[in-house]
Amino acid sequence: MKNVPLYLAGEFVQSQTDSWIDVTNPATNEVIARAPNTTPAEMRKAIDFAAETFKTWKEVPVSERARVMLRYQALLKEHHDEIAEILAQETGKTFDDAKGDLWRGIEVVEHAANVASMMMGETVENVAREVDTHSWIQPLGVCTGITPFNFPAMIPLWMFPIAIACGNTFILKPSEQDPLTPTRLAELFEQAGAPKGVLQVVHGGKEQVDTLLNDPVVKAISFVGSVPVGRYIYETGTRNMKRVQSFAGAKNHMVIMPDADKQQVLNALVGASVGAAGQRCMAISVAVFVGEARQWIPQLKEAMAKVRPGAWNDSGASYGPVISPKAKERVEALIATGEAQGAQLLLDGRNCTVDGLPNGNWVGPTLFAGVTSEMDIYNEEIFGPVLCCSEVDSLGEAIEFINRSPYGNGTSIFTGSGGAARRFQHEIEVGQVGVNIPIPVPLPFFSFTGWKGSFYGDQHAYGKQAVRFYTETKTVTSRWFSSEATSTEANFSIQLR
Ligand code: NAD
Repeated sequence: MKNVPLYLAGEFVQSQTDSWIDVTNPATNEVIARAPNTTPAEMRKAIDFAAETFKTWKEVPVSERARVMLRYQALLKEHHDEIAEILAQETGKTFDDAKGDLWRGIEVVEHAANVASMMMGETVENVAREVDTHSWIQPLGVCTGITPFNFPAMIPLWMFPIAIACGNTFILKPSEQDPLTPTRLAELFEQAGAPKGVLQVVHGGKEQVDTLLNDPVVKAISFVGSVPVGRYIYETGTRNMKRVQSFAGAKNHMVIMPDADKQQVLNALVGASVGAAGQRCMAISVAVFVGEARQWIPQLKEAMAKVRPGAWNDSGASYGPVISPKAKERVEALIATGEAQGAQLLLDGRNCTVDGLPNGNWVGPTLFAGVTSEMDIYNEEIFGPVLCCSEVDSLGEAIEFINRSPYGNGTSIFTGSGGAARRFQHEIEVGQVGVNIPIPVPLPFFSFTGWKGSFYGDQHAYGKQAVRFYTETKTVTSRWFSSEATSTEANFSIQLR
């Protein structure tokens, strides 16, 4: 049995805890490792060491900090398949999807290597006679990240490379359900030449998160996870006067106009709804058919029925198991509720089996039609391979329908009309919009910009917004006296002259 180490004060060490969390392979439910509930003393050590390391790390020149990211990017690419295999085994993702999870993180590391240009301040000469003002962007101190199970490479990599490149130190508390991938990421970060204590990794759940939320040394908290926890993190962190960015759950709609390319629509809907077993915060979970486009629902059913889940290394599988037996039970219960509340269950993924893997958390592709906004399957984030179809008569109705949703992570429109696409992107109250693209996750030179109930905070993940989140602006106003201009009068006004 592998015990997941802590990465504490620059060493990979065994926790002294007597409380451990099983890490399982969701395709078999075999226990593959156990993660420690980090003890209070170990948490203290991590926080104090991060604070101590900050004193030296912030003095390291920005180009040297960026070079760590360049070496890290190369190492992640070199170990790409090996990391993806670890990731696939602990999440159940297919190998291709696991590689994608890591790749989207590597892109953020590449971007973090450009940190100097993102940390440039502003300057104005002669704000008053012989007075100049310039601003500097300086790191905050100890920053932390609390991450979910569904992207164990990409989401930690959204956070620590940017925070650390800015000159901060970072404590990561990854999901207790898949801590092996983040541990491997940390090993390679050390190999890339990051000094001891710049990054530390602790494990556990609420107790360890609460320590980070309440400790006065911690300056910033980046969270990604479910709605109730996201709200709790934001409320507690901000009450403790910390900077918080909290990315939460979602319910993403795709609008299908009758003038769209039908085959593209079908391909996009199947992949974006059941890919990664629907366990993506940007998964399409509601298809909104406008007018005659509703005639394509039977073909959608045919296309979805051809898709099947399977093990990570099964090349014929389109997606893997859901993360745990509890998650499977919840998804299946929601399918039952959808049926009971009057939605048409066109494809039922309950009682799904996969040859040779009788104990996996399998859920087959599931399709509902006639879904209305009163139903639980519409309102709850199902986080399983379940697609709900709703029908409306016009684009205006589709926009109103989506804008009434409390979530605002991602949305998409499929159409052949530039006018419809233009109206949709202008009027929709959602932070990430795709036009003929079902999952519009921005690349790292933009930011990940969820809205409404999908995000609590002001500055988003990665890109320039993340640099603002992990830094303070200092504005310096200076005057150098030339001997002939020196006045003998005191100045009692606040006005600069
Ligand atoms: P989760 O909220 O259960 O867990 C996330 C993290 O919070 C984990 O590290 C966990 O240990 C910790 N945690 C759990 N309960 C806690 C508590 N009571 N107090 C403090 N910390 C706690 O989420 P999950 O199931 O791991 O991830 C799935 C969720 O994440 C989905 O809702 C999904 O939409 C969301 N998500 C959102 C985004 C986004 O960008 N908006 C991206 C990925 C995932």
